[in-house]
Amino acid sequence: MHNLARLDHRYVWHPFTQMRDWLSREPVVIVSGRGAVLRDVRGREYLDGNASIWTLLHGHNHPRLNAAIRRQLGKIAHCSALGLANEPASVLAQRLVALAQTAPPAAAPRLAKVFFSDDGSTALEVAVKLSYEFARRAGPHPSPRFLSLEGAYHGDTLGAVSLGHIALFHRAYGPLLFPTDRVRAPYCYRCPFNRARPERADARTYRRCHEECVAAVEHQFARRRRQGRPITAMVVEPRIQGAAGMIPQPDGWLRKVTEIVHGHHAQLIADEVLTGFGRAGAGNGARARSKNPPLFASQHEGIAPDFLALAKGLTGGYLPMAATLTTSEVFDAFLGDYSEFKTFFHGHSFTANPLGAAAALASLDLLARPESVRARRQLERHLGECLDSLWALPQVGDLRQVGLIAGVELVRDWRTRAAFDLRDRAGFRVCEAMARRGVLTRPVGNVVVLMPPYCTTATQVRRLVDTLARAIRDVFA
Ligand SMILES: *Cc1c(COP(=O)(O)O)cnc(C)c1O
Repeated sequence: MHNLARLDHRYVWHPFTQMRDWLSREPVVIVSGRGAVLRDVRGREYLDGNASIWTLLHGHNHPRLNAAIRRQLGKIAHCSALGLANEPASVLAQRLVALAQTAPPAAAPRLAKVFFSDDGSTALEVAVKLSYEFARRAGPHPSPRFLSLEGAYHGDTLGAVSLGHIALFHRAYGPLLFPTDRVRAPYCYRCPFNRARPERADARTYRRCHEECVAAVEHQFARRRRQGRPITAMVVEPRIQGAAGMIPQPDGWLRKVTEIVHGHHAQLIADEVLTGFGRAGAGNGARARSKNPPLFASQHEGIAPDFLALAKGLTGGYLPMAATLTTSEVFDAFLGDYSEFKTFFHGHSFTANPLGAAAALASLDLLARPESVRARRQLERHLGECLDSLWALPQVGDLRQVGLIAGVELVRDWRTRAAFDLRDRAGFRVCEAMARRGVLTRPVGNVVVLMPPYCTTATQVRRLVDTLARAIRDVFA
């Protein structure tokens, strides 16, 4: 075993990993990367099939991102946002507010203020604490309630876990959490209200239902209102739920749900930690074909959230940085004389870190380049074309693509939708077979995730999907 692998085995505890399995085989030790390719300590190369766990946008070792970070490093790596402003974070805040604009550019931006933190979980913690305190200050609700979706994942800190509904991750910590409400998430492929028989197509396209998942949201709001314990905010991953299993929402769901939320005078918290910065594609609206297609999934349906949480791709996937955008209305509720103690008493050591902000600015510049817009469109189309070939495999039950995110749900037989027991590790076994063939990705349960960095070439996408097909054949032969 390589010396570095030995050190890892001896000292490192890996996230979301059964360490007994980990310790039973030699880990891949990555030493460098370029574009969509990772290289390990033995000189083997791999395609980065999940954009380094959903973070990487433009590829590894990008000259412009590297240069921007180096330039900032030559000035200062870090200074505190407690009591000081800094150059890149100020500019970044302005750029994020401009990008989050949903109304015509002439109108005042609805999301007007940016609170920086470190990762997706902290971005959600900020949104939750602000929304909670806003509801208490603005209304007669001593204990504001939150609503989130079945299968929701909003991070691993305790506030974010309270919003989450993945029993496997969250059950153990129940007593530590605050109570939240949960409502049916649209999951057309496994929806009990969908009366359509399985077809060889994305279940959203052939579903037969009465949008019971929309009615369920209205029902939950109405029920809590009748009980005198109204829901004050709903948290949603717009367009597609990631860790739930890459579960996309049918067109219109987000818009209708936002109308319900705002109709009940509640706030909408959009968790775009995964979907932000073009990852969910450009959508189908009029702006989708423009020179500057929307970068956020919530903009696909023209909705105006009260909070927008951003992380993963914010710095192009280079550095840990996150942002929570919110409205002037929320901001103003925290204004007052110091002695009123309305201050938002919250912050982190590395809040508004200049290196992260410089990387984020360089990433935004890249995203705006016509070459990048074109490359993302082509990649989205090409990924879709390649994925189509997977319908030939009986173990592919559903195949879901939203922009540059794809989830392939493995089943025992597509005709019955019979699921694999999680203990069978079907997703893991397929991903292990892919790794042996030089493609790295991780499953969520029985769903294999493909999330290519935007620099992935047509040949590489073809290899990504072909390798998945071969791996499925290897494992289920
Ligand atoms: C990854 C993720 C988070 C948590 O982000 P971390 O940076 O891992 O803390 C929150 N929400 C969504 C939708 C995510 O995909």
